[in-house]
Amino acid sequence: MKLLADAMLAKLGRRLRILGHDTDIMDSVVSDTQVLNTAKREHRLLITRDKQLHERARKDKLSSILIAPKTLQPQLNQAFSDLKIQNTFPENARCSNCNVKLKETERPELGIPIPSKRYWQCPKCKQYYWQGTHYEKIEKAFKEAEAKGK
Ligand SMILES: [Zn+2]
Repeated sequence: MKLLADAMLAKLGRRLRILGHDTDIMDSVVSDTQVLNTAKREHRLLITRDKQLHERARKDKLSSILIAPKTLQPQLNQAFSDLKIQNTFPENARCSNCNVKLKETERPELGIPIPSKRYWQCPKCKQYYWQGTHYEKIEKAFKEAEAKGK
């Protein structure tokens, strides 16, 4: 499932990338028409907080989900529920910045001790990901969304 998040949902969009979904995030300067054209051209399901944009998308026969909550965790909960998302984290995870699938890698030489069983790297921006506190926070958020989304 390919997704397109509007600029207001950039944070949610980045989480959906980490979860393994190919998610394009629109720039805030882009017009509604450009958003809809991108969704159409790339066959992406639109996730938006903008009611007008959502209605325009539906009129254009595009798949669109209106996300109501303002904060991240309830947004995640709704996304899990509406999109019937399976929690496969950390398998299939994508870089939160580049939307590129991460590659599992050997322990990197970063000069600081990192206690982690697994490491990943983005092939594009070369950023490393590992099972640290940020990872645990995200894992917990996904588990909560999965439980509430059912
Ligand atoms: Zn990257």
